Amino acid sequence: MNTPESRKVRDLVYETFASEGRAPSMAELARRTGSTVETVHGILHDLAAAHALVLTPDGDAVRMAHPFTSAPMAFVVTPLDGHDDRRWWGGCAWDSFGISAALDLDVRIDTACPHCGTALSFTSGPDTPPPAGITVRFPRPAEEWWDDVVGTCTMIRAFCDRDHAEQWTAAHAPGTGYLADAPTVWRLAGPWYGDRLAPDFQPHSREHNQKLLDQCALTGPFWHLP
Ligand SMILES: [Zn+2]
Ligand SMILES: [Zn+2]
Repeated sequence: MNTPESRKVRDLVYETFASEGRAPSMAELARRTGSTVETVHGILHDLAAAHALVLTPDGDAVRMAHPFTSAPMAFVVTPLDGHDDRRWWGGCAWDSFGISAALDLDVRIDTACPHCGTALSFTSGPDTPPPAGITVRFPRPAEEWWDDVVGTCTMIRAFCDRDHAEQWTAAHAPGTGYLADAPTVWRLAGPWYGDRLAPDFQPHSREHNQKLLDQCALTGPFWHLP
């Protein structure tokens, strides 16, 4: 449902994430749009049904508006510019690159390798790919991402290297997932998330997004979007 009211609510959610690293409450959205909580509640549920954002399990707050998330997950994204005191939770490795792309900002990304626990800290930006050694594991095929999108993001983690990603997979989820090097995921995040804060943003079609995956050589059944 793309009414001017729902567009306004959607844009306010994204603006608040971008400027403050948090999701606005329903009461706040109602106040700022001159609307009622009931109306905002309905709009947010429509946006969630369209996968424009994700609500909490009880449906009364915004949990994620990709690439942003309102709750701590495995990644912290910090501007490289020390005078910029904003900070974001990255929902996953892909989203962390997406925050940099959406904000057109050089950032430091902090996480930990799920296999060995080593703290990983690396920089990335619109023109700066992350280190090639870092390996990102996607837990499940694209067709299943939105069956549990928070769970999917939670499991899209960055490992020290391919060896640690393979060892972790063998121990915890043998034979599953897909390993991509971090620069590939960074290359995908640019066009996938780069326009989320644009005033004229339009949701991508399935065909458009499939083409973005193709362009990063992420092809085959695993990457087939529903
Ligand atoms: Zn490791
Ligand atoms: Zn994610």
